[in-house]
Amino acid sequence: MPSFTRLIVVQVAVIFTAVLYNFFTKYFDNTVCSQDPPITLKYDEQQVYSWDDTCQLYSLDYKEARGKFRAATQLYENVETFSFPVAIDSSNEPLTIDVAIFPGNTPEYGTIVHSSGLHGVEGYAGSAIQLALLQKDVLPLSENNRPTIIFLHALNPVGMQEHRRSNENNVDLNRNSIHGNMEDFVNRRDPNNANYDSFRRFLSPTDPDGFFIDPTPWYRTVGIWINLLPQLYKYGFVALKRAMVSGQYHHPRGIFYGGKELQPSLQHIQIFWNQRSDLFRDAPSLVWIDVHTGLGPFGKDSIHYHATSPNGAISRFPQTAAELQNQHFFTSHSVTTSVTQGETSEAFVGYDLTKGMMTSFLAEAYNGSGLFITQEFGTLPAILVGRGLILDNMLYQENIRSKTKPSDGSTTQSVGSGRQDHSYRSPFLLNVFFPQSTTWRASVVRLGVALVVQCLQMSTKANTSSYL
Ligand SMILES: [Zn+2]
Repeated sequence: MPSFTRLIVVQVAVIFTAVLYNFFTKYFDNTVCSQDPPITLKYDEQQVYSWDDTCQLYSLDYKEARGKFRAATQLYENVETFSFPVAIDSSNEPLTIDVAIFPGNTPEYGTIVHSSGLHGVEGYAGSAIQLALLQKDVLPLSENNRPTIIFLHALNPVGMQEHRRSNENNVDLNRNSIHGNMEDFVNRRDPNNANYDSFRRFLSPTDPDGFFIDPTPWYRTVGIWINLLPQLYKYGFVALKRAMVSGQYHHPRGIFYGGKELQPSLQHIQIFWNQRSDLFRDAPSLVWIDVHTGLGPFGKDSIHYHATSPNGAISRFPQTAAELQNQHFFTSHSVTTSVTQGETSEAFVGYDLTKGMMTSFLAEAYNGSGLFITQEFGTLPAILVGRGLILDNMLYQENIRSKTKPSDGSTTQSVGSGRQDHSYRSPFLLNVFFPQSTTWRASVVRLGVALVVQCLQMSTKANTSSYL
């Protein structure tokens, strides 16, 4: 080989190695959880909480997370606990949403809800935050002058168990959170909204017969990029992201499918909401934090909120994103609102054509002073999150392959109906939505607990401050 060519080859190899080294040291800095240092959180200059064992907070398995959550809530006396059954797995174990209600004793402080796992595999972060809150008694769960505090653990338990983002029917529960008549909404929705159909063969590739392709090692590493990179070059990353995340309602086996009817998990929430109006509708203030992962800068949290005001009155919470960030959510990377246009953070770019967010779905049903918050923790670069979702859907659909041609969504097959008979677990999404990194694990717990504490301070102080 001529020396010039050899020099080029060596340089390319060095650059490639450096890129890989940087990638793994940043995103997988510690795959051995037991080596994590303690996590410390300090607020109000006085209160210091520390968690010595991160491994004890995080789980890699839904059942492990559920067991830890239930054990932690059972240590309290003044708690009401129950479960909403969502499915039964192949070994007849229940997959449930677990609820813990710590009743308040100061009605004007209202209710604070913390929910995890709406997107299944994303739930390991929210579950760890909930356990951290319960273990250290950070919240005034048994003190005088406390609001009602509710934990909802694993809103999508099947997705959490299968390490998938969608639920048992391949439905994205955020895109499924549609108010009013869902059938009307689906009929009115442009099937090619945000160009999903135009990009479908890249986002959800099938063979000429309409069957999903098994993503071979070649496709996982090279083929997918041969497919995607020309599209990214031509249309840009945001166009492709928008096509994915906006949600589609016509291809049950595609990605970001929003479903055709309200899913069991959300039906449970709706019934709970209607039956316990004392906790929700009649509470003078309501803060709901729904924890997600996958968007935004690594280990940082981006807040997206929907604020509500009582009829004809001013809300007790600040209404603008700038006010919220400066006065309360100062530890957050960015704060944006669903009401004001043009304030989009990096994490939520490309969501402008999206319908369906559980937090907005709940906000629309509430008439008091409310803050309905999505707390989103960044994980890997967005392009790798997209790759994981595409490959996971291909493998999942190939795994439950049916004899019916599936691609046009017009058949009457029951999507995911065989789920309980196979033990699918995605090999693509756990590390994407739950990076095995010390830095990330510590940051999520710290910022997740901080947001709840900040909401608590806002809810309780709001009654005597100028917000009224
Ligand atoms: Zn999510």
